[in-house]
Amino acid sequence: ELIEWLDEYSKEYNIPRNEIEIYNFEGLDQILPNLSDELVEKAMNYMRDNGVNVKTGEFVNKIEKNKIILNDGMEVNAGTIIWTCGVEAADFAANSGLATDRANRIKVNKYLQTEDYANVYAIGDNAAAPWNDDQILPALVESAQQTGECAAANIVAEIKGGSKEELDPDLHGVMVSVGSSYAVAEVMGLSLTGIPAMFMKHSVNMFYRFEIGGIKETYSLITEYMKEQASHKGLLPQLFGFVSETSRSLWLVLLRIFVGIMWLYEGYTKVRDGWLTSADYLVSGASASPIGDYAVGWYIWLNEAIIFKFPLFFQIVVTLSMIGIGISLIFGLFATLGALGSVGFSINFLLAGQYAHWSSDYPGHFSPLFWFLFASITLIGSGRSFGLDYYVLPWLKNKIWSRPKNKDQDLQKVVKK
Ligand SMILES: Cc1cc2nc3c(=O)[nH]c(=O)nc-3n(C[C@H](O)[C@H](O)[C@H](O)COP(=O)(O)OP(=O)(O)OC[C@H]3O[C@@H](n4cnc5c(N)ncnc54)[C@H](O)[C@@H]3O)c2cc1C
Repeated sequence: ELIEWLDEYSKEYNIPRNEIEIYNFEGLDQILPNLSDELVEKAMNYMRDNGVNVKTGEFVNKIEKNKIILNDGMEVNAGTIIWTCGVEAADFAANSGLATDRANRIKVNKYLQTEDYANVYAIGDNAAAPWNDDQILPALVESAQQTGECAAANIVAEIKGGSKEELDPDLHGVMVSVGSSYAVAEVMGLSLTGIPAMFMKHSVNMFYRFEIGGIKETYSLITEYMKEQASHKGLLPQLFGFVSETSRSLWLVLLRIFVGIMWLYEGYTKVRDGWLTSADYLVSGASASPIGDYAVGWYIWLNEAIIFKFPLFFQIVVTLSMIGIGISLIFGLFATLGALGSVGFSINFLLAGQYAHWSSDYPGHFSPLFWFLFASITLIGSGRSFGLDYYVLPWLKNKIWSRPKNKDQDLQKVVKK
């Protein structure tokens, strides 16, 4: 992560960039000891290619002011020193009076009972749970989840008098982000690097968030992720520097209003021509039939099988939808829905084949509907700039997802007890 901030910080603090170096001292012979040699090599190469001096087999013996002293006596001057070793369990575990290991993790047996008290259980990062005969379960999300489930089952068994289950960890792999645009991962026997590894990591994050908080948490993760990606530190802007959130959404306002006016006008002409009152339009052979010369086969079938059977109903749906999409895009109100509707209609018209998709007489001349389709895709999420979505969406989110009052009251009762 530091690699990515160096250029910016050197400017902000007025330090010449060529005077800043990053050193990474690692006591073992390699970084990331949980991963295969191949992935370790790739992660090290990525760091080295990006200007990090990775020094393995170098134990830090002492740290003094602006100075690191290595085991062999070598001294390295440094303005900023970040110490990242010696992960320990929380102080609470260390001070609990229960037997702990070197890293303050509470010693437990295979049922997650603490060594000292059979009726006290420890789980997650705080527990030194046995794993693979002579190892301790690593402090990972999966370990926390599985020790939690096992301890819960055993407490229930204790209360109800059933037999306890042994912890049987099933870890699916390790994923490591190296900054925001690179990752290495070993998942279910697969070795991944770069974008596939990052994709896997973000998908797994999403899965856990869904398990913990359902759709609400997943939604907030996706919006956080999109914001991060659109920000200047995101993957896209790093690959293509010209992508920036601010410029993107501001200029879209003009396009959004233009596309909105087109749909509103289209809806208005349909009202004017009587689409809401007379079922003469969406029927076979009618002048306004959706089926053109270049229609796709299954689209024709679908129209004949369903749409033409209920012409007035579908005329009303189409007309009101167009007006709704127009208003939505002009005012930026539920603009994502408006944009999706616009995408849907554009695809619909392309399938209906009113225009040839491209002209063989003029190579490169595509149906104007393609412009409409791609413009509509671009407008997804565009309502927050100069649009009512800026106010309405946060308000709605709060209304729908705010914690129900009775839950708070239940919690207060428990706390009082
Ligand atoms: C930077 C970082 C990156 C990580 N990346 C990964 C990863 O990619 N994959 C992975 O599998 N794991 C990762 N981990 C490890 C993973 O987050 C932990 O193993 C997991 O969260 C442990 O779950 P837990 O429930 O035991 O503890 P925690 O998630 O730490 O939950 C303990 C909770 O208890 C609260 N608490 C503490 N003391 C008290 C108290 N006295 N009273 C009440 N509440 C208290 C804490 O505030 C905390 O919310 C990462 C950890 C860190 C720090």
